[in-house]
Amino acid sequence: MTIQSHTTEYARALAENERYAAQIDRSVLPLPPGRKLAVLACMDARLTVEDVLGLRTGDAHIIRNAGGLATDDAIRSLVISQQLLGTEEIIVIEHTGCGMLTFHDDAVHSDLVERTGQDVDLAFHAFPDLEENLRLQLDRIRSHPWIKDVPTHGLMFEVESGRLREVL
Ligand code: ZN
Repeated sequence: MTIQSHTTEYARALAENERYAAQIDRSVLPLPPGRKLAVLACMDARLTVEDVLGLRTGDAHIIRNAGGLATDDAIRSLVISQQLLGTEEIIVIEHTGCGMLTFHDDAVHSDLVERTGQDVDLAFHAFPDLEENLRLQLDRIRSHPWIKDVPTHGLMFEVESGRLREVL
């Protein structure tokens, strides 16, 4: 493993934080999300969940991963969000042009094994259909025995227009 301690990007990020910390007072924010909302969304760089939903610091839990999938780890975060921090509503957001549509698990897996000489049991969960995938995630959340029966919404973010479309 190589450690890149001071890339240009890292230095930029630290400098931005100096500016950020100088102008914000976070001391009044309570720990539980003010809007009692948890959002599960794809990590896509074009989807800024806070901007798209008009959320401010302290408003919501935002759980993100490649594809916005209700993986065991996302479920773990949702359970903590509900049980310990009182959220009462869930929004799942996927989006057009998702990178998860562009590859197959098998190909990435064999490429990595070839490149590294190491095999790891890791699923990437690529999927071929956006809406079907979103419905699958909603089903998984709604039917999970440890997730509370709360309003759970599915939204498709159109990166081309910035609009959200409901997926039921
Ligand atoms: Zn995506």
